[in-house]
Amino acid sequence: MKCPHCLIEFHDNVSQIQIGSDIEGRYEIKSRTCPSCKRLVFHLTQYNLSIKSVNDGGRFINREVRTDINERLIRPKIANRPPCPPEVPTKFAADYSEACHVLDDSPKASAALSRRCLQNIIHDQLSIKKRDLNLEIQEVIANKLFPSDILDSIDAIRNIGNFAAHPIKSSSSGEIVDVEPNEADWNLDVLEMMFDYLFVRPALVQKKRDALNAKLKDAGKPDMK
Ligand SMILES: [Zn+2]
Repeated sequence: MKCPHCLIEFHDNVSQIQIGSDIEGRYEIKSRTCPSCKRLVFHLTQYNLSIKSVNDGGRFINREVRTDINERLIRPKIANRPPCPPEVPTKFAADYSEACHVLDDSPKASAALSRRCLQNIIHDQLSIKKRDLNLEIQEVIANKLFPSDILDSIDAIRNIGNFAAHPIKSSSSGEIVDVEPNEADWNLDVLEMMFDYLFVRPALVQKKRDALNAKLKDAGKPDMK
């Protein structure tokens, strides 16, 4: 199976732990250890046992038959979004990943984390610092720091989040405040676009450039400028 923590394939090494039963069925935890990242992976399985009469070499015997009802991954908790690209620096990736993980349970908490992540990118990566996030977004747009489609999407964070009616979202970006419909999702979509532009694409270009320069070097030619 593929490890849901590190995404590396490993040979199954399951152990089953019975944890009890109720009127809806029996429950067990399937536990696996990933040999690559050494982390545990747990699935919770709900199943039923019933007695069935089966033909065993000419005579009928009663046998316990197991029927699985459902199984779900309980560790790690997987967000309903693609994982953060590895090129993204940890200081931004941590808030983004947590915002993804809590999205279903708490859009408010998710939006607070994604606003904070956005503001940290603007401060640390784009070196813009203003009184509040609203002004900082305006500065990013005025300086055309992204292609126009991404700039429009960043600007929409202010509109969808209704910053005008909720100034605290802008002045204290990590604060938990009520969210507008789709606001939390939208913030994550925009962060994804920003990550791609700021970190993923430059890393890909650098990789191609390095590969080309290695070939040029082998041919005794100077590096590409
Ligand atoms: Zn792993």
